[in-house]
Amino acid sequence: MTIAHHPSDELLTAFAAGTLDLGQHVAVATHLTGCPHCRRVVHAMEHVGGTVLSDLPATPMSPGAFAAIEAQLDGLASAVATGARKVVAGFDDVPGLPPFVRDYPSSSWQWIAPKVHLRPVRLPDASATRVFLLKSQPGTRMIEHTHSGFEMTCVLSGSFVHAGGRFGPGDFDFGDGSTDHEVMIDSAEACICLVAMQGKLKLNGILGRLLQPLIRM
Ligand SMILES: [Zn+2]
Repeated sequence: MTIAHHPSDELLTAFAAGTLDLGQHVAVATHLTGCPHCRRVVHAMEHVGGTVLSDLPATPMSPGAFAAIEAQLDGLASAVATGARKVVAGFDDVPGLPPFVRDYPSSSWQWIAPKVHLRPVRLPDASATRVFLLKSQPGTRMIEHTHSGFEMTCVLSGSFVHAGGRFGPGDFDFGDGSTDHEVMIDSAEACICLVAMQGKLKLNGILGRLLQPLIRM
């Protein structure tokens, strides 16, 4: 698996600092599960953070904070290394889904648009960021759209292209309100992504405004 697109340093820093909300955390952790490069970056940030904190005389912090992140990353890495997987009926048909997401309650695919299905990932705690799986059939072309919030996309299988490049398994895509997307599924098989999203999808143009009431998202 060659990964070409990674989360920004800002996102990885926020992950290491524990300041992401749960939905965002799940998306970045999904990427880290398959990306040794970003796992190394996060480890390095922890050590830098530890050094900086040790130079500050009166800054108390939770004694186990960095250890907890280390343990979390080690858990991700060992789960990948051993192929450990807790089997939960309902997510077995989703290739590339990290083991920790399989532990969440299963759900079923829902139709949201022609050739596109959505499957909610029910997080154990409240989060302002929704997480779901999105499955798009080969050749699906999503018309140009923007977001009122942001969208993090982790490709699990298949691939898509847009103006920002080609995204295959392991790749991470970040879109915010300034991004115009015309996305095309270019793989021979369905493309399944884990998506963390805040805000709503806004379709552009006359066709988009006509279709918006039909898109259940
Ligand atoms: Zn990466």
